[in-house]
Amino acid sequence: MNNRKTKIISTLGPATDSPEKIRELIEAGANIFRLNMSHASHPWTREVVDRIRTQSGGCGISVATLIDLQGPSIRTGDVEGKLQLSRGDTVEFRNADLEPSTEVSVTTNYHELHEDVSVGDVMLVDNGEIHFEIRRIDPGRLICEVLTDGEMGSRRHINLPGIRVNLPPLTKKDMLDLEIAAELQVDFIAISFVRDAEHIRFLREQLAEKDCHARIVAKIEDQEAVKNLSEIILESDAVMVARGDLGIEVHIEELPVVQRAILKEAARIGRKVIVATHMLESMVENPVPTRAEVTDVANAVYEQADAVMLSGETSVGQYPVKCIDVLDRIARRMEREPGAGFSRGIELRTEKQHTVKSAVVLANSLKDSKIIVFTARGVLANYAAHQRPDHSPIYAFSPDEGVIRALHMNRGVFPFEMEFAELPEDSIRKAIDFLKGKEKIESGDPVVILSDVLGGAFDTDAILLRRA
Ligand code: PGA
Ligand code: MN
Repeated sequence: MNNRKTKIISTLGPATDSPEKIRELIEAGANIFRLNMSHASHPWTREVVDRIRTQSGGCGISVATLIDLQGPSIRTGDVEGKLQLSRGDTVEFRNADLEPSTEVSVTTNYHELHEDVSVGDVMLVDNGEIHFEIRRIDPGRLICEVLTDGEMGSRRHINLPGIRVNLPPLTKKDMLDLEIAAELQVDFIAISFVRDAEHIRFLREQLAEKDCHARIVAKIEDQEAVKNLSEIILESDAVMVARGDLGIEVHIEELPVVQRAILKEAARIGRKVIVATHMLESMVENPVPTRAEVTDVANAVYEQADAVMLSGETSVGQYPVKCIDVLDRIARRMEREPGAGFSRGIELRTEKQHTVKSAVVLANSLKDSKIIVFTARGVLANYAAHQRPDHSPIYAFSPDEGVIRALHMNRGVFPFEMEFAELPEDSIRKAIDFLKGKEKIESGDPVVILSDVLGGAFDTDAILLRRA
């Protein structure tokens, strides 16, 4: 079968955490498994990561793992049953250590909330479903008017569109979750509600202290992150268009505009980008996607995202394997069409990047060409992927298993573990023979070889053109 360039991230949950389901998802084409720490306990995380690795080893298909940190989300506290709210009602949001001052009063987990908001601000609760307007602010209390009828349960998420909140980058829970990420040496860590580049630097320091080599995925989920987009992308290894929260934090008609802006900026700077949330939402319950969902997925592929992500569709949905199959089919079909080409605007900052560009231009000019990259840390393979070659797949070889797994997020990169031979020529032969054996390359195909690690004649950045 030919290669699918767009990578698939699948969130695991009760519907899919068994060894059998994990195996099915891998065989259907999931490249990365996401564990959402908003719902995961540590024993579950340990068990599931172990299952992923066992199943991946068992069927000989390498996959990566991603731990998604809950981040500093503002939540309401517990209420008895559900509150029935009607327009015009008054509701108090108070700090947990204060007594209620109105008939309907709920607590929140953020003690400085009253310092960040102003009278007249709109507060959205429970996935943006219930709207409140802030009418009075007292120390530790907000008195709000209900703007939309609705039911409010316990521990609902609060969004404050356009309001800059002073929450720390990582909570105590996130710090504990980092411990398990380090213990398990997962490949990616996603950080939720990043607001500026400093948050990424802070996470990177924490990871270094714990000797954790995970790559950082910055989730762009609010207006503050959009404002600081370039700096955040520059500090990160990948960004996620986290449309669940983003769709609440910005006006909904802005969402596709923001998505495209993030993809363009990631392409300009040269970083991986994931489009996430509600890709196939209706398939949580139905065996087929809606036309609109198919078109949305196709748009992400057209925009040449590195990866598309499934959340509830595979964690709690009824048709998780079908969802992977649907993404796979849409991606393969759309990849035969010309893409948006945002990477044409890529900023080349180093000579290494210019060298890679030359290799990609060369490959683009040759029919049926393939790119082979020998890469120790994955840097050259990343650069090649960010250039979005027109038709050539990028076959990356590295002796480092962690580097191989991290490359599963790159569009158009197919990574393989391989020890480099003493002589560069032998490594090249070995790689080409391996790819021929897998029917990825045919005799006579032009092969553009890119390397900075082979030693001998190749101990500097080198491009070589061969016939397979
Ligand atoms: P979440 O992040 O699923 O952790 O909320 C993704 C999103 O907001 O889209
Ligand atoms: Mn989110």
